[in-house]
Amino acid sequence: MSKILGIIGGGQLGMMIAEAAKKMPYYILKVIVLDPTKNCPAAQVGAEQIIADFKDEKAIHELAERSDIITYEIESGNSDVLKSVQSKAEINPSPDTLRIIQDKFLQKTFLSENNIPTAEFLQINSIEDLHQGLKKFGYPSLLKARRDAYDGRGNYKITSSEDIQKAHDFFKDQNLMLEKFVPFKMEVSVIAARNTKGQITTYPLVENMHEDNILRETIAPARVPTIVSAKSKDIAKTTMAVLKGAGVFGIEMFVTENDQILINEIAPRVHNSGHHTLQSCETSQFEQHLRAILGLELGSVKLVHPTVMYNILGSKKFQGEYIPIEITDEDIFLKMYGKKISKPLRKLGHINLVAKQGESTEDLLQKLAVIKEKVRVKQLT
Ligand code: AMP
Repeated sequence: MSKILGIIGGGQLGMMIAEAAKKMPYYILKVIVLDPTKNCPAAQVGAEQIIADFKDEKAIHELAERSDIITYEIESGNSDVLKSVQSKAEINPSPDTLRIIQDKFLQKTFLSENNIPTAEFLQINSIEDLHQGLKKFGYPSLLKARRDAYDGRGNYKITSSEDIQKAHDFFKDQNLMLEKFVPFKMEVSVIAARNTKGQITTYPLVENMHEDNILRETIAPARVPTIVSAKSKDIAKTTMAVLKGAGVFGIEMFVTENDQILINEIAPRVHNSGHHTLQSCETSQFEQHLRAILGLELGSVKLVHPTVMYNILGSKKFQGEYIPIEITDEDIFLKMYGKKISKPLRKLGHINLVAKQGESTEDLLQKLAVIKEKVRVKQLT
């Protein structure tokens, strides 16, 4: 039976979920997104839109009244309000899962209680706690905001005792945690899905490169020994089994010097490091998310060909309209998100470079080095 899907957030993730939904008309009648930006990316591909803040209680109630099932593309949804509308619409992942994940301290506590490896961490309630924590972990350590922090925006690296007061003041009244610094050799992630019936799938491990704490490049599959990808897969599966959420989750991990895997962070939603699946895998993460929340059999996660994803980010040098980006090469898939205005490091689009027969990841990376200039964001004058 065809359902109405509500999404909290109508940015690029909501847009790509809405596009996947259009290909499943038998299951999804229409999509309604709640987003504060008029004509947000998801609305541009045909989703109806309620224009309001993501946490607006009245708007969440309206979305629940008008939808059969609700999901989100951002993790900062108001889990208490979502809980209160559960009688009106089915919500996946559940507000309880969201509540744990959206607080980094609760998330890490939950993981460690379930024997899932993470960096060492401590709750910080005062500057005294911070002094004590740093005595334990040493320098550098990371002071992190527990909530509403993404793309590294909520992190402060403390490198010496001189940073302590500055770091503490930086966060004002936010709830905090301290984390031991992990000298990782690689950042990787697993896109995992669990459907409402408990079926779990994990996409192949990918390698992530960040710039200014923002994801810049994803290499699928990750260039790691089989034992590392097998270990990451096991950790991701265990995590999905204990979390019990339904939907696609992005599980970010560190690979340490001695090939230990530690979870850095879980996102309860489709994830930027899974965009490659649009071209590389038999089922995209967006379709998989819909299958998971609708309780359908999950699709194949087979990686058909190596792929490199590169994010198109706004230039740090300007804010304003930009020259449209065009790519004509047939093995490069360009996806722009319909954002008119560029802002420094704003995610405006991405490209997927797909390996042709006989091409290796190294070949793709060489190609990418040339393409980067073609997709550089330039100001429209
Ligand atoms: P987060 O927003 O917490 O995911 O952190 C953003 C980035 O900061 C990560 O992608 C890592 O590059 C870095 N980072 C976060 N936590 C740690 C840690 N405990 N040790 C080393 N680097 C970290």
